[in-house]
Amino acid sequence: MNGARPTDTFGTNVFGERAMREGLPKQTYEKLKNSVSGGEKLDLATADIVATAMKEWAITKGATHYTHWFHPRTELTAEKHMAFLTVDANGMPIESFNGEELIQSEPDASSLPSGGMRSTFEARGYTAWDPTSPAFVIPSEKGGTLCIPSVFISNDGTPLDMKTPLLRALAAVEERTLRILKLFGNRNVRTVRVTMGAEQEFFLIDAEKAQERADILYCGRTLIGSPPPKGQQMEDHYFGSIHPRVLSFMEDLGERMLSLGMVLKTRHNEVAPCQFEFAPQFAEANLAVDQNQILMEQMRRVARQHGFRLLLHEKPFAFINGSGKHLNFSLQDSDGRNLLKPSSSQRKNLQFMTLLCSLLLGVSRYGGLLRASVATPGNMHRLGGNEAPPAIISVHLGNVLTGILERIGEGLPEELPSKGMLDLGLTRLPSIQPDYTDRNRTAPIAYTGNKFEFRAPGASQSTAGPLTMVLAIWTWGMDQMADRIEARLAETDVADAALDAIKTAVNESSNIRFEGNCYSEEWKVEAIRRGLPLAETTAEALNLYLVPEHRELLEKLGIFSDREITAYYETRLEQYIKTLEIDITVMDSMVREGVLPALSKQIRLEGEAFAAVPENLKDKTAEWEKHIRSLVTLKSDILVAVEKLSDIRNGNNHNTLTKQADELNAKVLPIMEELRELCRQAETVVAAEFWPFPRYQELLNIS
Ligand code: ADP
Ligand code: MG
Repeated sequence: MNGARPTDTFGTNVFGERAMREGLPKQTYEKLKNSVSGGEKLDLATADIVATAMKEWAITKGATHYTHWFHPRTELTAEKHMAFLTVDANGMPIESFNGEELIQSEPDASSLPSGGMRSTFEARGYTAWDPTSPAFVIPSEKGGTLCIPSVFISNDGTPLDMKTPLLRALAAVEERTLRILKLFGNRNVRTVRVTMGAEQEFFLIDAEKAQERADILYCGRTLIGSPPPKGQQMEDHYFGSIHPRVLSFMEDLGERMLSLGMVLKTRHNEVAPCQFEFAPQFAEANLAVDQNQILMEQMRRVARQHGFRLLLHEKPFAFINGSGKHLNFSLQDSDGRNLLKPSSSQRKNLQFMTLLCSLLLGVSRYGGLLRASVATPGNMHRLGGNEAPPAIISVHLGNVLTGILERIGEGLPEELPSKGMLDLGLTRLPSIQPDYTDRNRTAPIAYTGNKFEFRAPGASQSTAGPLTMVLAIWTWGMDQMADRIEARLAETDVADAALDAIKTAVNESSNIRFEGNCYSEEWKVEAIRRGLPLAETTAEALNLYLVPEHRELLEKLGIFSDREITAYYETRLEQYIKTLEIDITVMDSMVREGVLPALSKQIRLEGEAFAAVPENLKDKTAEWEKHIRSLVTLKSDILVAVEKLSDIRNGNNHNTLTKQADELNAKVLPIMEELRELCRQAETVVAAEFWPFPRYQELLNIS
């Protein structure tokens, strides 16, 4: 760390509080702050002053360019760099950046996915500064780029990005939370922020070895590969000592992220060999989403500098744990109180239970939207594996909370006087706080003592998509709870009304509450009995966006218009289809150019050796002959399978995306599975010198 203390490095590349106070006249600073906290729109004169200060600050950080940095509907961020340098009318070079350029930009990003919202000839999408997330400088080898977090909208104002729906959802949930807080008499709370911390899992492998595998290069995962002799069965990697090269990567990255205002609180080895995890300190959700995007991008870069290839794919290796991203989230009021933290005050606990039940109601009715939000091509291979939550959405609350809720649900408290009924458990709620023993790591959503954790999102996903859906359904649940409480206020006090609403919610949400092992077969059977959506493939899960009542909800909350959700669905489906098509192409070439020739060499080697067996030993060769036959059969089987794969690819000309996806799902997934298995067999019978790719044991072993 060249001697610098972390506290000095923190946020030095962010145009945050410190830089703004230093760089802006007081009045401008106030105006900007006011506009950020939802007050007035920034006027152009103020924007000009901010732009100049931002530019001057960025140049001292080495920046030569600026960019509106935004989240198109891929999982990545997009940037188009513009030079500060301009030659003026007198031929003099000047560095310029004005308010208009700060506020808005037209990247002409016509090739980014829009799901038919915009045809190329009218592709004038534009980006607009989102001042609620601070600008930052990403240093590069010879300079740096000032990144201005932005939304991306089409000409008629239709969002084309992941950020706009998120901002809408954040506003919706804030409004509803304030409504509930007011019901409980909290009139002084001015704002409510969603907080989020996303734990990030990933793999690092040697870049040199990755280079030799087309599947890793183009698909970010292995399409074929036989399990290594020592995988994760010994569980000695988890929390083990960190490989020095990896630690060095983590240190460089940690310092970079620190300068960008993000603290990586934990770093450790994960369960699988070469798998690791970071957990940042949580932040306001909009910022946390941006920070996770920056983190993924910087991880990729720093990995390269350290001779690694970063794998964010959800299932890079068969037979070995995949990578997820756990979204921890909660609500924080303007006094800094965590609203999902049980308290010693009975009234606050009722409020806490009301917020908690709001989420339960939302999941119970609209859990399909959460499933859809984690439907990515990669995550399909992870969900439902032995290490990841299943594709069925359920909530785990822990024994204590479940016990209390069930008692309320059974109506026991009603038999008691009103003060006594609160004492019955509710005052004991604080005991659930250090509830770490009572952890169920198999549930897609879990209450973890003072926050919820959504564990189904994939490691490579932008957190914006899943978080938007979480907030949408929570908002709906809050409205339900508030309506029910309000409806009874004429006849009773808020505590009674809330208890009743909680009781109803407990019973209504019994379909999605599950405390058992979500990895088990029994749960699947039980979930089917409960009628929960069971979407196993990405295409099936994406269809859940189109369920009429899901669309109506998103439209009603103003998060996605009906047209937008269809476009979003199409974008995601198209990405799924394209990913599968790339998988098919890469697998096809690896099999034809690598596996089949290797098998041929093996067959020839064996054949020649077999032919050379002396006459007097020929009676001993029965097994061997059988083996050679099996090699030939294997080769034929692989040929047949790979031909089938090519046929499907060439024949998939359906005119709708949904039909294309259905066909790929029904036909390609099983054949790719079959081919993978046949190649696994080939790998075990082909001589090491003939096998054309680095094997799992080589890939999963950092040099
Ligand atoms: P775990 O036991 O799940 O690893 P941690 O306390 O380490 O729990 O937290 C994991 C992640 O949750 C971290 O990124 C942390 O910042 C985040 N987190 C903790 N509290 C909150 C909160 N109130 N809101 C949002 N995220 C939180
Ligand atoms: Mg966690």
